[in-house]
Amino acid sequence: MPTLNEIRSTFLNFFERNDHAIVESSPLVPRNDPTLMFTNSGMVQFKNLFTGVERRDYNRASTSQKCVRAGGKHNDLDNVGYTARHHTFFEMLGNFSFGDYFKEQAIPYAWDLLTKDFELDKSKLLVTIYHTDDEAAEIWKKYAGLPDNRIIRIATDDNFWSMGATGPCGPCTEIFYDHGPDIWGGQPGSPEEDGDRFIEIWNLVFMQNERFEDGSQIDLEMQSIDTGMGLERIGALLQGKHDNYDTDLMRSLIEASAHVTSQDPDGPGNVHHRVIADHLRSTSFLIADGVMPSNEGRGYVLRRIMRRAMRHAHLLGAQDPVMHQLVPALVTQMGQAFPELGRAQALIEETLKLEETRFKTTLDRGLKLLEDELGVLPENAALPGQTAFKLYDTYGFPLDLTQDALREKGREVDTDGFDTAMAEQKAKARAAWAGTGEAADSTIWFDIAEESGTTDFLGYDTEVAEGQI
Ligand code: ATP
Ligand code: MG
Ligand code: MG
Ligand code: MG
Repeated sequence: MPTLNEIRSTFLNFFERNDHAIVESSPLVPRNDPTLMFTNSGMVQFKNLFTGVERRDYNRASTSQKCVRAGGKHNDLDNVGYTARHHTFFEMLGNFSFGDYFKEQAIPYAWDLLTKDFELDKSKLLVTIYHTDDEAAEIWKKYAGLPDNRIIRIATDDNFWSMGATGPCGPCTEIFYDHGPDIWGGQPGSPEEDGDRFIEIWNLVFMQNERFEDGSQIDLEMQSIDTGMGLERIGALLQGKHDNYDTDLMRSLIEASAHVTSQDPDGPGNVHHRVIADHLRSTSFLIADGVMPSNEGRGYVLRRIMRRAMRHAHLLGAQDPVMHQLVPALVTQMGQAFPELGRAQALIEETLKLEETRFKTTLDRGLKLLEDELGVLPENAALPGQTAFKLYDTYGFPLDLTQDALREKGREVDTDGFDTAMAEQKAKARAAWAGTGEAADSTIWFDIAEESGTTDFLGYDTEVAEGQI
């Protein structure tokens, strides 16, 4: 059974044999895109090649790209622990053509790798295409021999990719694996597609159009290919598993978590171990790429992930800080492919330990407060926004941590109430500040603070990020 490390190599070797330059993963903090929180796909480091702004000495490339999807447009934080296929940190395997080959070659590459090199069962594979993309349908039919009922036409943006409001865009085709009727979920395009029966493994994007401000589109002269396949998803398949978390790499982290907390990896705490294993990877890789916990921007997303992990460790009964003890297991698994992990190991361990030690006391007290509140609320009532705000303000509970805690109990937070409480507090702070006679300046300061508090746009810290690369 191939390990994830071996599967990564097989993928890259396949494309190297087919004349692709093997390019290193870029850092999680994008160098060239201030609007993007974290690198969330393989194409990010190649944006300027697709638009033709930049040229390099290769026009085909292949990578295994570190990705984090825990904020901004793609946010899978709430999926972790609940689906078999989502992580906050994952590796995206990709092949790219910059004005070189197009669909006629991209589909055969993908099909050959999956069915010949990886020897997947052809009868379990099905694909989606953009509803108007007859070319793609034809290639799937001819080259792969897929029958019409396994080439599903989709008319939504799920199968039409665009770089942004303007710029390169085009149809995409997604390859799915059917895990069989024992698992809940419907075919892509059906109402039950969110289930885990049909798992998307690979997305091939055909950049063939350019979109302008007024919404009009032209055909691009330079047609390009951008693909992405989750290493953990293909890994699960090749290891005969349904769940990403049962792959060798994730499993070893889950076992490390079980060992440190003295809790059965497959017992009732299994979901906590899964979350811890996932969050260990995203937090460690973010720190290795220069992000430090803070109260705004990227650093706040990191802090939120850390604190969520710590709550799960708490639920496993851990008395002492846990996360930093798991770093050696991660370095053993991934340090060879990503040497930056080993280089940053001491920093990662210290940062995790310090955060966990600091948060520990307020975490315990906050969770107690939460329990007490829930005890007196009517059954199924939403947690009042005021309480969620108190947890945030006094106990350092990010809103999503409280929501995560309530989700297990099938309950929600009154988020409008939370927003109101937050706005009231800001207004009070403003008034107090205005009283010092520096009203004009303070308004500007608060506006900036509010902006940087948002988690979607983070242009302001790119310089710092670049300095660290
Ligand atoms: P899904 O619909 O399952 O959420 P997606 O359509 O959002 O996936 P893409 O943006 O197409 O995913 O990314 C390309 C590939 O990266 C996917 O086909 C999948 O194999 C992998 N991938 C995407 N998101 C995740 C994630 N959160 N964890 C692990 N792998 C992922
Ligand atoms: Mg997704
Ligand atoms: Mg999808
Ligand atoms: Mg997709």
